[in-house]
Amino acid sequence: RFITLEGGEGAGKSTQARRLVAALSACGVAAIATREPGGSPRAEEIRAVLLSGAAERLSPVAETLLFAAARADHLDKTIRPALARGAWVVCDRFADSTRAYQGALGGVPDDTLSAVERIAVGDTRPDLTLVLDLAAETGLARAAARRGQGEVDRFEQESLGFHQALRQAFLRIAAAEPARCAVVDASGSEDAVAAAIWAEVARRLRP
Ligand code: C5P
Repeated sequence: RFITLEGGEGAGKSTQARRLVAALSACGVAAIATREPGGSPRAEEIRAVLLSGAAERLSPVAETLLFAAARADHLDKTIRPALARGAWVVCDRFADSTRAYQGALGGVPDDTLSAVERIAVGDTRPDLTLVLDLAAETGLARAAARRGQGEVDRFEQESLGFHQALRQAFLRIAAAEPARCAVVDASGSEDAVAAAIWAEVARRLRP
């Protein structure tokens, strides 16, 4: 099974990916947590390129192709091998992030995104996508608190309006594909969000 976690900054995606893997492991299901951009050694190198360069942005289509290149390598080196050995894969961000950031916010047209996604992803589509939903203000405040501990990437410097539009973009994606997507309220405590995620996973995928 292939599960992706999506949402804006500060929604708790990476924490919840780890917790979901721990919960699956506890009930005897082999599972790995991985992330995008990155998730394989060379895709992590592409991540560094993507997240740097605040002074000179790539054009949105170039950015889309670079995310897609990282995704293709991540799928080949990490995701498909894990699925092939029967492990569940929990991925922090995937193609919906490209639809939201490069598409809804970056203005890359839908047909371009679909064509690129077809090439980069092929048939390895998520069985379940959990959209961690949070007010933009709350997410940014959480991201700011985290900033003390690590570097700020250029996407986190965008305006509040950007993050509000991003939230709407993820909600539209979820609404368009209800069979695949579940919206999870990410405003509660870490435990509360983990419980909500587990409820969706248990109900939909029966681990
Ligand atoms: O989730 P994480 O913070 O690791 O993502 C790294 C950054 O890349 C984020 O700030 C996110 O906004 C950005 N990103 C993006 N387009 C994607 C995926 C991530 O702009 N397709």
